[in-house]
Amino acid sequence: MVDLKQDVKYVKGVGPNRATLLNRLGIYSLGDLITYFPREHEDRSKPQKITGLTDGQEALIEAIPVAKMTEVATHKRNMKIYKLVVRDETGSCIITWFNQSYLKNIFKVGEAYKFFGKVSIKSGRVEMNSPVFDKQERNKNTGKIIPIYPLTYNLSQNTIRQIMENGLKLTKDNLEETLPEYLVQEYHLMPYNQAIHKIHFPDNFEEFNQARKRLVFEELLGVQIALMSLKNSYERDSTGIEFSKDVKMSDVINSLPFQLTKAQLRVLEEIDGDMENPKPMNRLLQGDVGSGKTVVAMIAAYKAVKCGYQVAIMAPTAILASQHLESFKDLLEPFGIRCELLISSVTKKKKEEILEKLQSGQIDILIGTHAILEDNVIFQNLGLVVTDEQHRFGVKQRSKVASKGNNPDTLVMTATPIPRTLALILYGDLDISVIDELPPNRKKIETFAVTKNMTQRVNGFIKKQIEQGRQAYIVCPLVEDNEEINAKSVLELAQTYKEEIFPEYRVEYIHGKLKAKEKDAIMEDFKNGKINILISTTVIEVGVNVPNASIMVVENAERFGLAQLHQLRGRVGRGEYQSYCILKYQGNNDVLRQRMQVMVDTNDGFIISEKDLELRGTGEFFGTKQHGLPEFKIANLFEDMQSLKSVQSTAMKILAKDPKLEEPQNEKLKKIVEEKFKENIENSL
Ligand code: ADP
Ligand code: MG
Repeated sequence: MVDLKQDVKYVKGVGPNRATLLNRLGIYSLGDLITYFPREHEDRSKPQKITGLTDGQEALIEAIPVAKMTEVATHKRNMKIYKLVVRDETGSCIITWFNQSYLKNIFKVGEAYKFFGKVSIKSGRVEMNSPVFDKQERNKNTGKIIPIYPLTYNLSQNTIRQIMENGLKLTKDNLEETLPEYLVQEYHLMPYNQAIHKIHFPDNFEEFNQARKRLVFEELLGVQIALMSLKNSYERDSTGIEFSKDVKMSDVINSLPFQLTKAQLRVLEEIDGDMENPKPMNRLLQGDVGSGKTVVAMIAAYKAVKCGYQVAIMAPTAILASQHLESFKDLLEPFGIRCELLISSVTKKKKEEILEKLQSGQIDILIGTHAILEDNVIFQNLGLVVTDEQHRFGVKQRSKVASKGNNPDTLVMTATPIPRTLALILYGDLDISVIDELPPNRKKIETFAVTKNMTQRVNGFIKKQIEQGRQAYIVCPLVEDNEEINAKSVLELAQTYKEEIFPEYRVEYIHGKLKAKEKDAIMEDFKNGKINILISTTVIEVGVNVPNASIMVVENAERFGLAQLHQLRGRVGRGEYQSYCILKYQGNNDVLRQRMQVMVDTNDGFIISEKDLELRGTGEFFGTKQHGLPEFKIANLFEDMQSLKSVQSTAMKILAKDPKLEEPQNEKLKKIVEEKFKENIENSL
């Protein structure tokens, strides 16, 4: 067998320099090399006739030089231009190279060559600049489907392609099968050895598709089985807390000023069942903004405390944590439950006091941010952990809080509406509960999608709302992954609104570069009605509650994902007032208009996320990074949704029969899962 761990420097054509460049691409071993997958393929296999080529296309022609290659004088002294006139039976083409004098002696008049390059047509004259070429009978640079690699630094595509060919040769065409044979059979998968070769150098696109399908299957199955095994192992191997059946959730439910929805009741029943079960709960609570997840968490917390345990609530920001504290106190203090807030801005003295009380059991519920994760935060008897995840905290962080107790129950809340298939791979280690219903009498947020020429009217509308005592959010998109630049664009927008449009109102802005304290102060002022218009980047996406804010204007709405627009929109319509969301967009294409229309038509987050997937179909769905989707080498959760579904049912079937992957036929799967835990799950999930 080939040693895939051998250093990539032993591959033919890789010297010390190239080895360093390959290392920068994350390629250290032969195995890394052959799993460095192409970004796309270029079809250089089908020759076309010169007459009939179109301007701008890439094409392969088979043609014969009809005159010697000539050097043409240029006015730039250092530049030499070489021209070659070639012809096929339909027409002629002028081919140009720059500064490649060695080419002068290559072409022979009357012999046939193949040229592949970009075609330009200028007043009827067909030209090609710097094409790649082969003699007609050779297939080195042309005549086949060529892989294009994503990043290459200083390596040319040609070089990396050559190295790849040499690397694949070293595998001697006998890479060991990585999946169990029965899966390869059952799903008609291309064997691993063939798939690895064909993903780079397919003879046709059908072969490529088969190769990709197999590798995607393997990658998704690995992650899915890894997560599901993790879940099985929590359930199997650990004994948690068996909360008493004598403590009834209904006691606190009856004290609520409203009736819970059917969905809330159903979800509470699931949670109650988990809590009374000795196995630790690991549950995801999914529900649209405003669907009433916090209430559910409070009721679960009530039960935990009344059973004699402490509760930790983790929120993504200090503002949110403070807001949660208020809600928890309102509902639970009357029951003698003591709540405290731990965020980084509490004074040292106060913090010491909190830590002491926590350890001695004088605090029942600790609400806070990441500060709760610190080592010196010690609970006396932690029984329930609730994390409110605007963005995924990840398996590691979740288990860090949990480790502060003795297998406490864990509830993860998320407002990102994720289709079930995705939830299963993003949160595959958790059971899933969904609140799929909003409390009654919610007013629909009236949404309008407008273009620039409506700006006057939009401003007039904002004015009207403010004059009625309401407040407005104006959101501008992240321009790029650079907080400085984003801050600048917020500043510019703020200036326009402040000085030109609404000089009579108090306009403030908030962005990611501001210190947490400054942000909190501005949010506080906005909450208290001291600010009329708040301009911000998406920092307000996180669930701040300002019931008096009734209008949101989103600038350049075309730059947002629909799921994100929906999250943003959830910031208004939180009080008694009819609320509005105005999406200002630029651009003029059908998909964009359809996307905007989805927002206008519905307030249902699940429908929106499904549509978003359908219309975008790419990884831009949530803004991948932000939501911490695992990084896949070849699979794309969006394009490969169908595969994902089939992989999920396969994973379930396999684990139902062999939960610990102990059967000999699953030995290879076990290996894949172990690898995932080593490199993938811990880092990226
Ligand atoms: P989420 O956390 O899911 O965004 P919240 O729990 O913050 O939602 O609920 C939003 C608002 O709706 C809160 O003011 C809450 O008191 C209220 N609420 C929750 N459940 C109900 C219900 N069943 N009926 C009426 N109002 C409710
Ligand atoms: Mg909430």
